Amino acid sequence: MNDKPRVWVFVEQEEGQAHLVSWELLGKAGELARDLEGVLEAVVLGHGVEEVAREAIAYGAERVYLIDDPVLAYYRNQPYAHGVVQLCRKYRPEILLLGATTLGRDLAGSIATSLETGLTADVTGLEIDPESKNLIMTRPAFGGNIMASILCPDHRPQMSTVRPRTFPLPPRDPSRQGEIVREELGLSEDEVRVKRVDFIPKDRTVNLEYAEVIVSGGRGLGGPEGFDLLRELARLLGGEVGASRAVVDAGWISYEHQVGQTGKTVRPKVYLACGISGAIQHRVGMQNSDVIIAINTDPEAPIFRIADLGIVGDLYQVIPALIEAVKREKGHE
Ligand SMILES: Cc1cc2nc3c(=O)[nH]c(=O)nc-3n(C[C@H](O)[C@H](O)[C@H](O)COP(=O)(O)OP(=O)(O)OC[C@H]3O[C@@H](n4cnc5c(N)ncnc54)[C@H](O)[C@@H]3O)c2cc1C
Repeated sequence: MNDKPRVWVFVEQEEGQAHLVSWELLGKAGELARDLEGVLEAVVLGHGVEEVAREAIAYGAERVYLIDDPVLAYYRNQPYAHGVVQLCRKYRPEILLLGATTLGRDLAGSIATSLETGLTADVTGLEIDPESKNLIMTRPAFGGNIMASILCPDHRPQMSTVRPRTFPLPPRDPSRQGEIVREELGLSEDEVRVKRVDFIPKDRTVNLEYAEVIVSGGRGLGGPEGFDLLRELARLLGGEVGASRAVVDAGWISYEHQVGQTGKTVRPKVYLACGISGAIQHRVGMQNSDVIIAINTDPEAPIFRIADLGIVGDLYQVIPALIEAVKREKGHE
């Protein structure tokens, strides 16, 4: 095994199904490994998850450390943290990235604490400082009004969590070759303090992060009924409904629809912002959308600065016209 700096991605999986954020991170980590002249490696923990390790190679990992053990059959903080901390102590990675998911956030804090290193949550940018070779971790700070560059110069690994959809999905190449290194967990079921008594899957009705079309509404809707119109348009376009924080706080729609710094980060093909002013805290969650269309009565609204297509007008005139046009296009009058 070589001594090149190791750039690691923790691959999150549930019942053998990897979370897409792990592959997005492998794409970004590959760039970091190139800039560091290092190696891109993945860490997979679970039970019966060799296929996930092979997928990590298809998404760019040169080597995968795999701990496959019945104790890891489902996520629990203690054994997962134990496994990753052990691997870090043995292989001393320079960088360790995890998804800013519920699982990733829970795990990252425990790993960082055990290894006595720093952790930057929810980063929006990652790059290698060409001189010091340290990782520059960028994230919004002070309510999103500034972007802070955070360094961890004295401790290793340099750790970050990254939200789904912050970085693009890299191409998958199943013919890519890599090495799978099997490691032992070294922890028995008796030593795990938490047992699962039941599993109730979350009712996932909204899948904003991976939606291809999002029709989003803000205070310009004037009231919760306005969302009926947006729901109809979203349904016709096969998309999801998003929202600004202002309307979530007002109770017009539930939090799981919120886009932005304290909501979801999204990257759809089309993001339609209806009656949303485009505050920085909203923009950080949607500015990487492929095409942004804004409808707003105020021609000075900041959303127009990042919109590819801007319609200055009343959404109650524009959206019904759009619905009619889509229906006509689809052939049902
Ligand atoms: C720490 C912190 C975190 C935050 N996190 C988030 C976050 O995650 N997501 C988020 O969205 N915000 C967040 N915010 C709040 C953010 O600063 C804004 O207050 C919020 O995004 C504004 O929501 P809005 O655009 O719906 O409302 P407004 O800013 O009130 O904008 C309404 C817009 O609708 C337009 N309009 C009115 N009537 C019509 C009509 N009939 N047709 C068309 N347009 C019309 C108006 O011209 C206006 O531009 C955060 C703030 C802080 C301090």
